[in-house]
Amino acid sequence: MHQIATRAVDWHAIREDFPILRERAHGHPLIYFDSAATSQKPRAVIDALRRYYEHENANVHRGLHELSSRATEAYEKARQRVATYLGATDAEEIVFTRGTTESINLVAQAWGGKFIRAGDVILLTEMEHHSNLVPWQLLAERTGARLRFVPVLDDGTLDLEQLASLLTGEVKIFAFTHISNSLGTINPVSELCQKARAVGALTLVDGAQSAGHLPINVEELGCDFLAFSGHKMCGPTGIGGLYARAEILDSIPPWHGGGEMIVSVTLEKSAFKKAPHRFEAGTPNIAGAVGLAAAIDYIEQLGRPAIFEHDSNLANYATQRLSELPGMHIFGPTKQRGALVGFVMDAAHPHDLTTFADQYGLALRGGHHCNQPLMRRFGVPGTTRASFYFYNTTEEIDQMIEILSAAVRFFS
Ligand code: PMP
Repeated sequence: MHQIATRAVDWHAIREDFPILRERAHGHPLIYFDSAATSQKPRAVIDALRRYYEHENANVHRGLHELSSRATEAYEKARQRVATYLGATDAEEIVFTRGTTESINLVAQAWGGKFIRAGDVILLTEMEHHSNLVPWQLLAERTGARLRFVPVLDDGTLDLEQLASLLTGEVKIFAFTHISNSLGTINPVSELCQKARAVGALTLVDGAQSAGHLPINVEELGCDFLAFSGHKMCGPTGIGGLYARAEILDSIPPWHGGGEMIVSVTLEKSAFKKAPHRFEAGTPNIAGAVGLAAAIDYIEQLGRPAIFEHDSNLANYATQRLSELPGMHIFGPTKQRGALVGFVMDAAHPHDLTTFADQYGLALRGGHHCNQPLMRRFGVPGTTRASFYFYNTTEEIDQMIEILSAAVRFFS
């Protein structure tokens, strides 16, 4: 009945690559619609972690022995893999971090600590995740800088008409999300970066929801920073990265002090390594980086354009089917959206709906999704969110509709 276009990739077959998708929840086959929070991991990534620990594990950059060389090589190869994946010119433009949150904190604290002064403006948007809001609030409090916000329109897109009056010469950095984790909005990144550059502002793109879902080329986007998390793109938790344009990264002082980031240390003073190592104090998440590289290989094998098309089809199909339910309010753009749909149903509070769905093995997410100001903007305490990845199917969406229909009957 509801047909979607299919590509050369057999999306049903690739489910076999994800052992966890065979799990049952409360006695039902698992339907995992919470990939915007964290994605599931293919066997290729799980195997890469095992292989690393069985054959390569040692500390990096320090040891003069065979295993240390293997670990260092694997870690630095992973950095190169990330750079190529993001279209960065040089692997040295990639700093490994714990993920998007840590990457943004690095920029706010280390770059912001040096370059932001009282009266400067930090431009954000109303749709930012707390990760791209709180670090800037802390910086503004510390420095006396001011925060400004691009408003969100009722259709979930940014109010670009207001941008001209907000993006003035006082703006030092414009930090915004690529894809909204609550609305699914895909922001026009290159246009925003171009406009920021025209007034001399740097740009930071929060790529948490985009890095694993669509082709990204930082050179083409024209951004200065891009933050992302490995765990949302088939990689392990605790690893992610920050892309920063070379000349900018070189101008940033260290933020965490410790081993690995120094050239020499006396009791009083230290000299620091060049970027990116200057920003990676202590033993890094070596296995995580190896797992992330394996995740990138896996994603690239499917192809990001194909993943994006499949994601979009799922999101459009879900939006259409959800809108058939009574008392349904869907948030976000009606046309192009990322792989998620946020909604509120008259029948039940998002938490009750999510708990009901869980009883049928359906993993949704209910709440503010770390978007409290955005929820306030739309006058709701929270939403229910179904978020998809390439291992999801339209059949699963049909099952979600059946479960939500049962919820309407149950709560009415
Ligand atoms: N930004 C956005 C848009 C997100 O969706 C998330 C994760 N929900 C983050 C930032 C934070 O990512 P992490 O928790 O992996 O640091």
